[in-house]
Amino acid sequence: KLIKEETERRVLFNKYQELKGNIRVMCRVRPPLGALEDDRAGMSFPDDKTSAEIVLAGPEERSSLGVVSRKNYPFEFDRVFMPTSQNEEIFGEISQLVQSALDGYNVCIFCYGQTGSGKTHTMSSDDGMIPRATHMIYDTITKLKEKSWEYTMEGCFVEVYNEELNDLLVPNERNSKKLEIRHDEARKQTTIANCRTVRLSSPDVVETMLSEAQKNRTVAATKANERSSRSHSIFILKLVGKNLATGEQCEGTLNLVDLAGSERLKHSQAEGDRMKETQNINKSLSCLGDVIEALGRGSGHIPYRNSKLTHLLQYSLGGNSKTLMFVMVSPLEAHLKETLTSLRFATKVHNTHIGTAKSTKKIKGGD
Ligand code: ADP
Ligand code: MG
Repeated sequence: KLIKEETERRVLFNKYQELKGNIRVMCRVRPPLGALEDDRAGMSFPDDKTSAEIVLAGPEERSSLGVVSRKNYPFEFDRVFMPTSQNEEIFGEISQLVQSALDGYNVCIFCYGQTGSGKTHTMSSDDGMIPRATHMIYDTITKLKEKSWEYTMEGCFVEVYNEELNDLLVPNERNSKKLEIRHDEARKQTTIANCRTVRLSSPDVVETMLSEAQKNRTVAATKANERSSRSHSIFILKLVGKNLATGEQCEGTLNLVDLAGSERLKHSQAEGDRMKETQNINKSLSCLGDVIEALGRGSGHIPYRNSKLTHLLQYSLGGNSKTLMFVMVSPLEAHLKETLTSLRFATKVHNTHIGTAKSTKKIKGGD
């Protein structure tokens, strides 16, 4: 009976999702970090019952009469998380999407925002979305066994740095073979050739995998933080399920993406390799925006190929997929301009309506 209720709840959720389109945007404001960060920006959350709005007090402006004032900038998203929110609460909002991946959907969850806004804290810290999602999937897989569903879960963890794809599960010095993106157009699935894929048979394996990725990332970079702010990391979970009683099959993917810092990088001071790197970061983030915009317009040509990130996520953006973007912002006055820029980008994404996702779940032999 419980299982039946659960199934009904999920059907309802998918209906709701269809109505609202397949792209969600949620904003998260991180708390100030200790006493040093005391230059709070003016922010208010007018309706904390639904918590979908944030109003920013803009930069000081001086009128011709010399009067100093601030303009209010209201923004509305699917949800706004205040600085007091914990990762547990955030996960509560995404657990249905994680469930969708088990139901055969391709799901993409992004963290977008300037460096230091809380992307990694949200995504890959010890209590972030990656470990929470994998644990929830294990629990659900165990429950689904009673309904004759058998699942396998495989994971890989890659980084896009300077428009190159690197394997985060292989120590850098042994990373000799180039990773290549392969698309299977018929099955609408992506594989990465030469990438280490780990069969995630227990929660321990996930923890080992995450700490390995962390180690490789640190070893790879002389200035680890700097590098992580300039690269996108993508945790990819492939979920393949089969119902032993009915023959139903489904294949879903969950992509958890920690994007490079969105701050505008200055071209003028950079030279050579650094200049190229800077251009590549700006390019791949704007490409992501372009792809979402083209999907929203229902354009016949979606420019996936313009960046490694969108190329890799081709089948998880638009079409048979559900997308959630967290726009992460800092609470500080010093970051106000970047915060405004981030919230404007997120508003564009929020205003985009991308059509209905379809599950891959089907009866074996049917279509
Ligand atoms: P990003 O990945 O966007 O550059 P981080 O996730 O590394 O930013 O966050 C920057 C700092 O702020 C880290 O020290 C992190 O632990 C802290 N932090 C971020 N978000 C929160 C939060 N919601 N609660 C407490 N500390 C946070
Ligand atoms: Mg980070």
